[in-house]
Amino acid sequence: MAYKKFAVSPGFREGGSLFKPEQLAVLDSIVGDDAKIELTTFKQLYVEMEEDRISAVQIQLKEVGLDIQPAGYYTKNLIACNFCRGAEDAGLNVAKRLDEAIVGKEVPSPLKIGYAGCALGTSEPLLKDIAVVKMNDVYDIYVGGEAKGIKARLGQLYVSGIPEDRIIPLVTRLIAIFQELGKKKEKFSKFVERLTIEQLQKMTQHS
Ligand code: SF4
Repeated sequence: MAYKKFAVSPGFREGGSLFKPEQLAVLDSIVGDDAKIELTTFKQLYVEMEEDRISAVQIQLKEVGLDIQPAGYYTKNLIACNFCRGAEDAGLNVAKRLDEAIVGKEVPSPLKIGYAGCALGTSEPLLKDIAVVKMNDVYDIYVGGEAKGIKARLGQLYVSGIPEDRIIPLVTRLIAIFQELGKKKEKFSKFVERLTIEQLQKMTQHS
């Protein structure tokens, strides 16, 4: 029997990425005894189960408010902070719109995009491929963070002090450039190094 993997996320709200007990109860009751459920490092659960039952299971998971995305070489759900400063101060609505705009896009290697509602950055944004950090009323974007391996590195400042309405155009343009020019299996941090920040800034200046 063929098995396939997909990603499940509860989304995020004030308090963080929180599953409701009934969502987990539904998940437990429908995936089957031989399913594998993996807790990833990027706030998605990976469910591996019988391929021919996946469509029906995904419909039921969506009905209880869970977000379903492909696993593998795709952009992940936005990895957001817990919005402890409150929805407005920490930019919860901005983060939700950004999540909808970026998630589930096919890319040369899995892409993690982080968000922090203030400079404390408790969601570790500088270790993500792309990160948006709210700085009072404006936003900074970092690129090229890498958490894995002995050559782990922090993201570099790509643009500073931008207004809210430029976030989605810039981040989606960065993803599109990676889709177009990234080599298969090339990590985004390596891609940024190869193209250089300056070149990326030039390519996105009108976004
Ligand atoms: S990044 Fe700032 S707003 Fe978000 S949870 Fe951390 S301290 Fe709170």
